[in-house]
This record gives sequence, structure tokens and C-alpha cells, in this order.
Amino acid sequence: MAPVTKMKGGLDLGGTKIQAVVTDGASAVLGAARRETPRRASPEAVVVELAETLREALDNAGVEPMGLAGIGVGAPGSIDVERGIVLQVPNIDGWDAPFAVGPALAAEMGRPVRIGNDVNVAVEAERRFGAGRGFASFLGVFWGTGVGGGIVMDGRHLAGRGSAGEIGHVCSKPGGRRCNCGLEGCVEAYAGRGALEERARELAKQRHTILFELMEKRGRDRLTSGVWLRALQAGDKVAEELILRAVQALGVGIGAAATLLDVEAVVIGGGLGERLGPDWLARIEAAAREHTFFREPPLYRLAELGDLGGAIGASLLE
Ligand SMILES: [Zn+2]
Repeated sequence: MAPVTKMKGGLDLGGTKIQAVVTDGASAVLGAARRETPRRASPEAVVVELAETLREALDNAGVEPMGLAGIGVGAPGSIDVERGIVLQVPNIDGWDAPFAVGPALAAEMGRPVRIGNDVNVAVEAERRFGAGRGFASFLGVFWGTGVGGGIVMDGRHLAGRGSAGEIGHVCSKPGGRRCNCGLEGCVEAYAGRGALEERARELAKQRHTILFELMEKRGRDRLTSGVWLRALQAGDKVAEELILRAVQALGVGIGAAATLLDVEAVVIGGGLGERLGPDWLARIEAAAREHTFFREPPLYRLAELGDLGGAIGASLLE
């Protein structure tokens, strides 16, 4: 008989990194590992990378693959949960057709695999172990490369037809900037790190900014959350202007969502959300209040699980 185990593996397949954890089946992380997401790779090659990252986390935990009760993967975009299919990963060149990640990774690791949407699993982790604890309803907003969201109502995930919570693609300005999704004026078109970088590159042609010097000094080839934070701390006007504009857009989207859903709390996470911290959380709250109908608006909290939240959430998939 196989040994009884509750230990789980969790993988967060992000646009820039793959994060793996081995947990005790709840929130305790026994081992972790992180690798860069390949920018150009076939889905098969990405699955091999996922397996390697998880093996590294297993090594760090001193656990054999067979010691895992199961493995969960959080992946971006639309997921066919039943069949373990990831439809598309926007940031990986070479992944443009749906691929059955679940079965492929299960064959690679010899353990059952469940797949879920990356933002939803991160929201679930915050609900059970993080900033969402104690709230029957909250809105999770993950402010990073894109802007993702998830909704908890009456203690349960609100899924809609599967994709509820896309706050990044709520309109913050009719006729505004074109978003990657094809719509105009989306929150993400002003607040997503990808859009921010694009705009910063345009502005850098006419105005002084230290954003790109900081990027090079830190050996990066994109404007990371850390680069934005440093530029703000140094009083860089371009960075300040763009982040303030981002906060305004987030405020419109969050205010509308809070008015529609009447949630108890708003939990802000993601690379930028967490890096920019409490001061900017307060500004997001102030911006959102201007667009919230209720005299008693929701409470605003920073996500608590940090970089590991997505992988911990994935490990909870059943
Ligand atoms: Zn959009």
C-alpha cells in the first residue's frame, strides 16, 4: 500500500518565472525552487522545465516525487480544468496552441496533476492563509506584468463562466490606450508593467528618466518592480507620473468592482503591488474611494504570501 501523505507540490507558471514549492498540504513550505520562464519554447519544453523546477524543490525539501499526494499548477489565461489544458501562455514565444499540461506533467512526475488559473489559485491562497483570512467576501487584485483579479463571495470563488475577475480589462477610460487584449482604455493598458514599460520607452525619447539606467545597472533587460521602486525613491518624474496614472486607472477599476460587488476587503498583490508597499496601497485606496458608491468602503490590505503565494495556491488544487 502506498504511504499516506498529505504533502503537495505547487507550481506557478508565470510570464517571467516558474516558482515551485513542496508544502505540508497546507501553508508550510518544506522546499522551494525558482527558474526563469523560457521566453521561446515549445509547450513540451516548458513542461520539462516545470518538472525540473519541481524536482529542485523536492531536493530542497528532501522529499521523493512519490511522497507527494498530488501536484497543482497555476497557469495564466483560460484553463480547461477537466482536461488539464492550458490554452495559451502569452509571454512564451512558441506556445500558441492549447496544450495538455496536466497529463504531460503527470507522465513526467508520476503523480496526479491539477491545473488552475494562476490568479485564482493565488486568491485562494490569500483566502485561506493570507490577507483574505476572516473575510467572507473580497476582491483580489494582482498588479504585475498584467493586472489580474479574483473574487471571493460568501466564502467561495466567484467563477462566472470560468473567468470572472478580469479587473485588468475593465475599462478605465473610454477611447483610451489600446490594450494587448484589443479593447481600449483597459486598466491594464495604464497599470500593467508591460504597458508601463512601453510608455516609459516612448517618454524616454523626449524626457530625462533614470528608469533605464537603473535597469542596466541591475543587469535587467526589463523594468522590474524593483526598478520602478528605486526610480520612485530617487524622485524620477517620469516614473512618478506613470505610476500615478497607473494608480488612477486601478482606482477606477477597483472602485467600480467594489461598488458592484460590495466586498468587505480589497487585497492588493502582484510584483508591483507588493514592492511598492503600504504607501502606494494607501494611494490606490484613495483613488478607488473616489469611484466607490458606499460611504463605508471596503478595507484595503496588502497580500501576505508574497512570491510564493501563487505556487502555494496551486498546491491546494484538488
Ligand atoms: Zn484589456
